[in-house]
Amino acid sequence: MPELPEVESIVRDLGPHLVGRRIGRVELHKDKLFSAAPGLGLDDLQGKTIRRLWRRGKLTVWELSDGLALVMHLKLAGQLVLHDADGYELGHGGHPVPAWGSALPHKATHVIVWLADGAVLYLTDIRQFARLALMPDGEVERFLAKQRLGPEPLTRRFTAAELGAKLARRSIALKSALLDQSVVGGIGNIYADESLWRARLHPRRVASSLDAGEVARLHRAIRWVLDYALREGVAAVLQGKASPDRAFPYAHGRAGTPCARCGTIIQKEWVGGRGTHFCPRCQPLPAASAAPAEAASLSAVGRA
Ligand SMILES: [Zn+2]
Repeated sequence: MPELPEVESIVRDLGPHLVGRRIGRVELHKDKLFSAAPGLGLDDLQGKTIRRLWRRGKLTVWELSDGLALVMHLKLAGQLVLHDADGYELGHGGHPVPAWGSALPHKATHVIVWLADGAVLYLTDIRQFARLALMPDGEVERFLAKQRLGPEPLTRRFTAAELGAKLARRSIALKSALLDQSVVGGIGNIYADESLWRARLHPRRVASSLDAGEVARLHRAIRWVLDYALREGVAAVLQGKASPDRAFPYAHGRAGTPCARCGTIIQKEWVGGRGTHFCPRCQPLPAASAAPAEAASLSAVGRA
């Protein structure tokens, strides 16, 4: 799933190519992906210039001319690829399926934005969960507030004290608490597993059972993991398997291979219906503070 680092890469890599460009025609092949505030529609995108691109949590906000804004959420599997007029790939971001450099449009390409200078932006989503919402720019803050996003983990607003206070109110598995976007904005399955491995905390610890030292460790680990992914390149994980050619991610997608820290075999369990990877030795689970184990549920089938 595109998580904070993947979405941030859209802003950093695609943003410089998109800002200042004017939108021509927009093709929408799956109606459910697009919604608009009353009085607005897909045709209102035509002729607008992209003024600014920024991120909040896993959402990107595209500020357009004439007081409009497009808020985009790539959800589980959305991918954006920008081709110039010659078909050359200028930039990409999001989910790497189909692989970067693949022929586009793909059969799962649901939105095609023709820019006025001949460049084309493709939104491909094999799961069809991506969403685009067009609204007056004055409504963006209210729209984002409704998403109840927690603090941005790479800013000073994200503190160990606040993280600790939020975890203390949750008697669910720690992994599930980290996936709650109102606890921390932008963390998904991969970086939750990585943060817990780095902090040496079991994903099935009850969130409220952490002491102050453990919260501080987790807070540092989240920042380290996200910062690393932004600096060194996002985690290479395909179909739930981490690339054997790279050390990162260390736990996620590594079931059955030795822990990079202690050599114990990394295990996989379902936590909150999500495939969860951890080292049973580095991340012990005290029986007194364990959330119940789960079997892989029907809803979990096919989810990584
Ligand atoms: Zn280990």
